Amino acid sequence: MIGASMGGLLTARALREAYQKIVIVDRDALPESAAARRGVPQGRQLHVLLSRGREALEDLFPGLTEDLRRAGAPLVDLHGEVSWHNDAYLMRRAPSPLVALGLSRPLLEHAVRERVTALPGVEIRTGTEAVGLATSPDRGRVTGVRLVDGTIPADLVVDAGGRASRTPVWLGELGYPAPAEEQVRVGVTYVTRTYRRHPGLIEDLLGAITNAVPGSPRAGIVAAMEDDRFAIALSGMLGEEPPTDDAGMAEFAGTLPLPELTEILRTAEPATDAVKMRFPATVRRRYERLRRFPDGYLVVADGLCSFNPIYGQGITVAALEAQLLRRLVTAGTDDLARRFFRGAARLIDAPWAIAVGTDLRFAEVDGPRGPRVRFVNAYIHRLHRAATADPVLGAAFLRVVNLVDPPTRLLAPGIVLRVLRGFLRRPSPTAPAAAPPARIAG
Ligand SMILES: Cc1cc2nc3c(=O)[nH]c(=O)nc-3n(C[C@H](O)[C@H](O)[C@H](O)COP(=O)(O)OP(=O)(O)OC[C@H]3O[C@@H](n4cnc5c(N)ncnc54)[C@H](O)[C@@H]3O)c2cc1C
Repeated sequence: MIGASMGGLLTARALREAYQKIVIVDRDALPESAAARRGVPQGRQLHVLLSRGREALEDLFPGLTEDLRRAGAPLVDLHGEVSWHNDAYLMRRAPSPLVALGLSRPLLEHAVRERVTALPGVEIRTGTEAVGLATSPDRGRVTGVRLVDGTIPADLVVDAGGRASRTPVWLGELGYPAPAEEQVRVGVTYVTRTYRRHPGLIEDLLGAITNAVPGSPRAGIVAAMEDDRFAIALSGMLGEEPPTDDAGMAEFAGTLPLPELTEILRTAEPATDAVKMRFPATVRRRYERLRRFPDGYLVVADGLCSFNPIYGQGITVAALEAQLLRRLVTAGTDDLARRFFRGAARLIDAPWAIAVGTDLRFAEVDGPRGPRVRFVNAYIHRLHRAATADPVLGAAFLRVVNLVDPPTRLLAPGIVLRVLRGFLRRPSPTAPAAAPPARIAG
C-alpha cells in the first residue's frame, strides 16, 4: 500500500479481510499523536466528516465514534444543531438522525491509524518513498512496489498516494495508457484557524455554515471540535482569497451572512495561527474506462477523484470505496481492478454530480452546463428559500449532501410540491430580508 493517509488506512482495513499481511509505506514520518504532518498539508484545514462517512467508518471500525467522542469530539445533529445559511436563507432547524463529529483531521487520522496498526499482520513503514512498480516479465502483472531503498514484493499493490498519485506516469513507463482525466477548475483558497471555546462564547453553538453564491464566491464555516475549540474556515473560489490577518479575516467574514462567524472572530481567543491552502481544480481519473490495466494493482481515494473540498466529500468517498473493496475481496480477488474501478465510478458519480453541478452555478467555471444543470441549480435555490419554513425540505437537502440519499431524491413529487408551495409563500421571518439573486450560470 502506498500512502498511510485516510485512503491507505481505510483500504488496508478492507483488504485485511482477504490478505494476511499488509505493508503500508509512507514517505512521511508519522506522528505518535494527533498532529498535522507534511505529507497531508490539508490536515491543517478544517475537515467535516459527512454523516454517511461517519456511518461507513463506524462500520469499518465498530466503536470509533465513541472513541472519538471520548477524545473530546462533539457529536452534532446536523439539522438540529447547525445553522445552515444556504444562499443566505437560514434553514429551519429540526431534530434529525444525521449525526456528524466535530473534530480535527489529525484526530480522525490518528484514531483510524491506531485501529489499523492494531490489526494483526499490518505494518506501516515510514520515511520511505515509492518510486515505481515491479512487474512480471510480460508486464501483465504488478508484483511489487519499488521504493527508494528496495522493493517490496506483493500479490496486490494499491496506490493511495492521494491527488498527486504517480500512477498515470508509472503506467506510461510500463507501456499502458494513462486514464482520461476530467478537471474542473474552481480556484479555491482555504484559510483555517482555531479558537478557544470558553464558557459564555455563543452558548450551545456547534456549527454554522454559509455557501458561496454567484456574485459572491465566498463561504465560511464554524465547527466545534475537540479540546474545547472552534475551527473557522473562510474560503474563496475563482481566485478570491481570504486573508490570514485578524483585521482582514474579520472584514472578509463581515461580508458573509454568518453572524456566528463574525462574533467568534470579534470575541474569541485564537488557539493557532491562520493557515492558508490553495486547491486549484477538482480532478477525476477514469480508470474504469481503460481497456488495459495490469493485474495486481489498484488506485483508491483522492488518486481516483479529488473533490472540491468545500463539499467535504473526500474521506466519506474513501470510506465508501473501502466498504466496496471489502465486499469485493470477500467474494474473491479475480479481476479485482475491473470490478473495483467500475464500482468506485458508480460511487463517485453522485458526489461528483453534487460538487461539479453546484460549481457550475458560477459562470466562470468551465464545464458541460446542459439544461438539466441549470434547472437543478435554480430549483435548489428555491428549495433553500422554502426550507426556511419547511424542515422536511431542509432534511431532504441535508440527506443528499451528506451522501445518505441520491440527488434524485430532491426531485421526488412530494419534495417538488413542497418547494413550489414554499416558493409561493413569502420567505419566513427567520430568513434574511434580502437573499442574493439566484443567478444561474448558463
Ligand atoms: C483544503 C482541503 C480540505 C479538505 N476538507 C475535507 C473535508 O472537510 N472532508 C473530507 O472528507 N475531505 C476533505 N478533504 C479531502 C481529504 O483530505 C482527502 O480526501 C483524504 O485525505 C483522502 O486522501 P488520500 O488518502 O487519498 O490522500 P492524502 O490524504 O493526500 O494522502 C496521501 C498519502 O500518501 C503519501 N504518499 C504520497 N505519495 C507517496 C509515495 N510516492 N511514496 C510514499 N508515500 C506517499 C503521503 O505522504 C500521504 O500520507 C480536503 C482536502 C483539502 C485539500
